[in-house]
Amino acid sequence: MKLSGLGVWNLYFLVKFALYYYGVIDFSFLSNAALAALLVIQFKNARVEKVKHIIALIIAVILLYKDSWLPPINRLIKQAGNVQDFSFDYFIELVGRVVNVDMLLGLFIIVVLFWYSSQWIRFTTVTIIGLAFIGWQGQSNSLDINESPTVVNNSSIATQSKAPVVTTQYQSPDQKLSDFYQQQSLLTSHFPKEYNGELFDVIILNICSMAVADLNFLGISVTDMYKDFDVVFPDFNSATSYSGPAAIRLLRASCGQTNQASLFKDAPEQCYLFKNLEKLGYQNNVVMNHDGHFDEFKGLINRYGGLDSKPFNIDSMPIAQYGFDNSPIYSDGAVLNGWLDQQAKDCKPCAMYYNTTSLHDGNQLANRARMNSQQSYPLRHANLFSDINGFIKNLEKRGRNVMLMVVPEHGAALKGDKVQFAGLREIPSPAIVSVPVAIKFIGPDVQNYSQIVIDDSISYFSLSELVSKTLKTNVFGGKNSIANLLDNLPKAPKVAENADTIMMYVNQRPYIQLDGGDWSEYPQGD
Ligand SMILES: [Zn+2]
Repeated sequence: MKLSGLGVWNLYFLVKFALYYYGVIDFSFLSNAALAALLVIQFKNARVEKVKHIIALIIAVILLYKDSWLPPINRLIKQAGNVQDFSFDYFIELVGRVVNVDMLLGLFIIVVLFWYSSQWIRFTTVTIIGLAFIGWQGQSNSLDINESPTVVNNSSIATQSKAPVVTTQYQSPDQKLSDFYQQQSLLTSHFPKEYNGELFDVIILNICSMAVADLNFLGISVTDMYKDFDVVFPDFNSATSYSGPAAIRLLRASCGQTNQASLFKDAPEQCYLFKNLEKLGYQNNVVMNHDGHFDEFKGLINRYGGLDSKPFNIDSMPIAQYGFDNSPIYSDGAVLNGWLDQQAKDCKPCAMYYNTTSLHDGNQLANRARMNSQQSYPLRHANLFSDINGFIKNLEKRGRNVMLMVVPEHGAALKGDKVQFAGLREIPSPAIVSVPVAIKFIGPDVQNYSQIVIDDSISYFSLSELVSKTLKTNVFGGKNSIANLLDNLPKAPKVAENADTIMMYVNQRPYIQLDGGDWSEYPQGD
């Protein structure tokens, strides 16, 4: 046994250094250094040497996969069931996004350069220096994340000196997260026992795939898009990047934010927004512009969102798009106005939940040539908002009081970033979970105010608080101003989760934790 150079294995490490530098992958220092150490040991026996290389190759593939931001294998297998539903064209569109031509060219250049210069450059030395540099950098990063002082009142010191003394305590990200959930668990909206003011309908339009980042990417201004709305929240935390959990979180808005696992367990009765309204005489209506089969969406909002009424029948409505699995997506305008004509008269008042997938990745416009998602998104977005504005006009004509809320589920990840290609929402990154929410008060006695923009980061609980405050203060009877409703709305730190993936801000920077592992900074920039 003796030590030798890394030979062609240097290429593996050099490519990984380059990917790590550009933030395309993470780099677990210890495992990679251990692999390099194994490779520099040279065995005398040729067969043992061969086995070493085979084992190293397997480890290298696993390590590269682990260092990438791709979802863990077990989750990928679970997702494979969904991939079977994808249409072939959509599958090809996705492959085109993963296989990046620039990346292939870069790889080709690195290989040729290595081949050319390996005669006179000792690449093993370069690799060792690179590893040492990453190891050193990792040390300084881990110090960085732990250096987040939390100001606490130390009561024992306070009594001695008879004045409150503020000390700093170092809090780990895990402690921060558990503190956050602890604080959130104390929040519950209190609805009035009965309602004596002017009756008003509550209508929530839950839109799949529309984040502030998507609108910025297309050059659409949030305040222009919501120009007819009274209140705009441009920094709403959707707290997740998938539809089912987003809808459950919205439907449980009357309690504080919980972790992902709790969404799929029963919650206390008072957490369900629509159940709270039902107790006041509201009749719940579920309306969707799709059949709700994907990811068992329909079952989820029923079982975990407390919405047990039968969805409004849309079978005879015009089809506007076909989903990524070729299932029909019905015209938003036709479905919303159809509901208004057929069902909205019967409930006094109505609490209506609407879910639309018109902006989902991979949709195709009906009767149009195939377009990729980025090409068709602006068209689909314009159609959706023209339908919503038409619906508002009809609500105004009807003359009943309505509190209308537009709440996107999560973003479309139209632009993508270093970690996740466009359309991938596995990690709930800030760009995907920061969505624009707006509220409009419609009614004969509601005065027209200028648009109020609240820049604070808020989340679902604030929406429940707003409904409860509206019930308490009779805004529709002209007894309270909309601006008064917005006083003391609970702000929400941006914590977001998917199954086994958590994003949280530490020192004003987003960090993520995958599968309960270490926290690492989410690479920013393109
Ligand atoms: Zn969605």
